[in-house]
Amino acid sequence: MRFRNLAELVAVAEQEKKPMYEIMIEEHVNETGQTREQVIQTMTDSFDVMVASVQRGLTEDIKSFSGLTGGDAKRVYEYAQKGKTLLGKQATEAVAMALSTSEVNAAMGLVVATPTAGSCGILPGVLSSLRESLGLEKEQLVLGMFTAAAVGYVVANNASISGAGGGCQAEVGSATAMAAAAAVELAGGSPEQAIQAAGLALKNVLGLVCDPVAGLVEVPCIIRNGFGSVLALAGADMALAGVRSVIPPDEVILAMYNIGKQMPVELRETAMGGLATTPTGKKIEKQIYGDELNEA
Ligand code: SF4
Repeated sequence: MRFRNLAELVAVAEQEKKPMYEIMIEEHVNETGQTREQVIQTMTDSFDVMVASVQRGLTEDIKSFSGLTGGDAKRVYEYAQKGKTLLGKQATEAVAMALSTSEVNAAMGLVVATPTAGSCGILPGVLSSLRESLGLEKEQLVLGMFTAAAVGYVVANNASISGAGGGCQAEVGSATAMAAAAAVELAGGSPEQAIQAAGLALKNVLGLVCDPVAGLVEVPCIIRNGFGSVLALAGADMALAGVRSVIPPDEVILAMYNIGKQMPVELRETAMGGLATTPTGKKIEKQIYGDELNEA
């Protein structure tokens, strides 16, 4: 790769006068030996899976295996159609679509991990919303996935994208940063604005703990995906308006990594803290597993 961090990615993109997605495509071609067409086709296949997961959650009665979650995506989508939402129709639809993909994941359906299954709803939520608000074609949205992939690559290699490693900031935070950068490039913003959006969005979830109730990727994961989609759009809008992160985006990523290392193990996917150990969280755990946990 010609870049190790976001600043280097922007430098390459500016020097070559190309968007970040173009740099990522070229790097992928170099790394895999595949043709440009093959690389784009693989991403297009992933995009198709994403769209199918969004649609499934909006049209089917989804219920997770535990019975704990499902149906909220449809609820929010139908509410958005009434045209009286506080966020505005398209941002509310982004929430619905993010919830949708996450609900499909909780029901063991097929999703694209962007970057993880727990945070799989944010990018499709944002892309689906942009498709409508900006009138984008599928081919353009696929390019946006390469922008997101470039940011995800940097975060994964300089910090963490794992809830067990760095808390939910590493999963939902990374996905939010990826989607924010993609939104900027798809809206015609510069590579510099794209990484600023990623930094702004990621800053806002620093310290977010991983505390899944009963150890399942459902509560609070699904709702956090809905929120992440709005955060990504807000970060993109701020960056497009010219707002810059005072702390450079690469330093935000580093801060996220360090915070993750400082997090106690109870707040890193072990279900031993946070929402998982609230009275209701424990009750749900008991309902699902009975006394199995104590006997183990
Ligand atoms: S709470 Fe943990 S399991 Fe759930 S999305 Fe966040 S990091 Fe993933």
